Amino acid sequence: MKIFLTFDYELYFGKQTGTALKCMIEPTAELFDLAKGKDVSYTFFVDVGYLIQADRYPELLDEVTRVKAQVKEMISLGHDVQLHIHPHWEKAKFSNGKWAMNIKGSYKLSDFNATERMAIVRTYKLYLEQLIDREVTAFRAGGFCVQPFSALKTVFEELELKIDSSVFHGGHFMTDNYNVDFRTVPLKSKYNFKVDVCKEVTDGPFIEYPISSFRYRPSFYWMLYGLGKLFPSRHKGIGDGQFISQGGSKLLSLVTYKTTYVSTDGYYAKKLNASLSKAENLKHQEMVVIGHPKGNTVYSMNKLKKFLEKNHKKHVFTSFVQEL
Ligand SMILES: [Zn+2]
Repeated sequence: MKIFLTFDYELYFGKQTGTALKCMIEPTAELFDLAKGKDVSYTFFVDVGYLIQADRYPELLDEVTRVKAQVKEMISLGHDVQLHIHPHWEKAKFSNGKWAMNIKGSYKLSDFNATERMAIVRTYKLYLEQLIDREVTAFRAGGFCVQPFSALKTVFEELELKIDSSVFHGGHFMTDNYNVDFRTVPLKSKYNFKVDVCKEVTDGPFIEYPISSFRYRPSFYWMLYGLGKLFPSRHKGIGDGQFISQGGSKLLSLVTYKTTYVSTDGYYAKKLNASLSKAENLKHQEMVVIGHPKGNTVYSMNKLKKFLEKNHKKHVFTSFVQEL
């Protein structure tokens, strides 16, 4: 099995964005440590919009210098760096020591017109390529909002983006900010597509590596919500901000099964081994895990450490740069 451990490298986007130190720099350094001495390559999907905006503020010079140095370190340590776009950064401003962002109407690339979309993706991709001195070919949409892909197809073709890893089988959340409907995504670990990311087209020009999905039982969410309250030192996120809501009912996940992504974040890390067994049962050749440095907890780091120790000799921990 090829296992892709992918991390969206970013701040939080709600009222409390947290700090680069706690959300990105420190937890990523811990992730580096876990991979040390093992043949493990991560993929970091770097939120370039943050870097571009932060560059504009002299008071953020120290912070952004450290973040850029860490992105370069990802490469020098043998990890992969690919493109992650949260276009709401276009409208973000830094004042009085914090980011003011309004994600309404700018959370998805499809909220922008065709010219703006092309400009954003081109600028962000070029910025990242210059930073790491390497070509970027894979993409993950901010907030999984890659639909409708027809709005991105020309951009992908023109900028030679070949790989997408934004979807996960069974995902479905339609809210003001989110436009996610992955209910028809094939239960495959890799497929080609053309105009619709959810539809396999054998000779399609783009390759989808869906994030693996898992069916979590209600008791999982009882534990997830409960443990955070009971044992905050082990289960509270290392990042000092807060996830924005994806919508959907918290209550519903406490009474029904919920299919969502396989993740290293917080309590989700509990299911890494079970998800691997599921992928093996499905005879998948690839497994893609999503995580966020900001979403790590003491608990999740420990689970990931054990997952790597158990599996790094049996499986290949690889990244997208090695796929093309
Ligand atoms: Zn993101």
